[in-house]
Amino acid sequence: MLPEVFEAMKQFFTESWGNPSSSYRFGSELKGAIEVARGQVAELIGARASEIVFTGNATESNNAAIHAALRANPKRRHIVTSQVEHSSVLNYCMAMEKEGYRVTYLPVDREGLLKIADLENAITDETAIVSLMWANNETGVLFQVTEIARLCKARGVLYHCDAVQAAGKLAVDVSQVPADYLSITGHKFGAPKGVGALYIHRKAPFSPLLCGGHQERGRRGGTENVAQIVGLGVAAQMAKKRLSGFDSKVRAFRDELEIAILCSVPETELNGHKTHRTANTTNLTFRGVESEALLLLLDQAGICASSGSACLADSEEPSHVVKAMKPDTTASRQMVRFSLSAANTRKEIESVVATLKQSVAALRG
Ligand code: PLP
Repeated sequence: MLPEVFEAMKQFFTESWGNPSSSYRFGSELKGAIEVARGQVAELIGARASEIVFTGNATESNNAAIHAALRANPKRRHIVTSQVEHSSVLNYCMAMEKEGYRVTYLPVDREGLLKIADLENAITDETAIVSLMWANNETGVLFQVTEIARLCKARGVLYHCDAVQAAGKLAVDVSQVPADYLSITGHKFGAPKGVGALYIHRKAPFSPLLCGGHQERGRRGGTENVAQIVGLGVAAQMAKKRLSGFDSKVRAFRDELEIAILCSVPETELNGHKTHRTANTTNLTFRGVESEALLLLLDQAGICASSGSACLADSEEPSHVVKAMKPDTTASRQMVRFSLSAANTRKEIESVVATLKQSVAALRG
C-alpha cells in the first residue's frame, strides 16, 4: 500500500468511524468521502461516478457481473469466456455449468492471444455474456479488448472485462473499450487488499449479488468499508497520475531482467507475447526444473516469485494459463512468474539473475 493511501485512510479508523448510512451527521457525513472516492475511481477508467459500485474484491466484482447478466437474460443459457481467465471467472462459470448453463472456454495460441474468429463463432443467440480479461495475471498478455467489446456490441451480447491487471498499469478507458461491466481491485495499484470496484455501464442490466440494505444505491448491500473505499480512491488518483512513468520505468527493468535471464540461463523460454503485454510481468520456463523446487530456492534467497496465480498457489495443479498456451509441453510445470513494480531497483534485478543462475544449475545437477 502506498504511504499516502494509508495516511488518507487513518482518519476513518480513528476519528471518522461512523456509519455512512446513519441519519446523524457523525455517520452521514462520511457519504461525502465515499462519493469523492467514487469520482476518483471513475476517473481512472473514464467512467461516470454513478457507474461505479464498490465491492469487497475483484472476485466479487467478477461474480456480480456474470450473475447480473445471467439474471437479466434468463432464456439465454450460454456464457463465453477463455481458458486463461482468473479462477474467480472460471470457477464461477464452472458452477453455472452445474446449474445447466453451457460455457465455451475459448482457447489461446502459443503466445496467449485469442483468435477473434473463435469468439465470433462462439457467440450464438443463446449467449448471455462474454467475459474476457484485459491483461492476464500470469503472463501479462493483453487480449484484444477493443475488438472484443465492439464485436459483443455488434452481436447484442453483454461484455464483462476483468481489468484487474490493467487498471493502474495502462490506460483503461471505458469510452474506448465499451464494456458493459469491468472489474478492478485495490491491491494491484497501491490500495489495500480487500476492496474492489465494478463498473456497470449506465444502460447495462444489474441485479445485486449481495442483497441487503440500500447501500450503493441498492446495487450492493452491506455497510460500506469507508476507510478501504477512501484508500481505493486515493490510490486510483495516484495511479492515474503516474501511468506513463510507471510503464517506462517498469518496462525497462522488466526487459532487463527478462533478457538477462534468457541470455544467461540455458534452456529458458518466454511464455506470452513478447510485446503485447503489461510492463511489469515476465513468465519464463526453465526446462527440466520443477517450478516449486525453484520457487523454494528463490524464497530462501528472499526473492518472491510465483508459479501461477497467488489465488491458486496452494494447489498442486500446474498453471492452467501456460497449459492452455502450450498444451503439448511441460512448460506449465516448469515456469516462474516475476512481477515488478516501480519500487524495484537495478541491484534487485542483478541479484535475482545471479540467484537464478545458481539455483537452476543446482537443480539441474
Ligand atoms: N482477476 C485477476 C486477473 C486477478 O489477477 C485477480 C487477483 O489477483 C482477481 C481477479 C481477483 O482479485 P481479488 O483477489 O481482489 O478478488
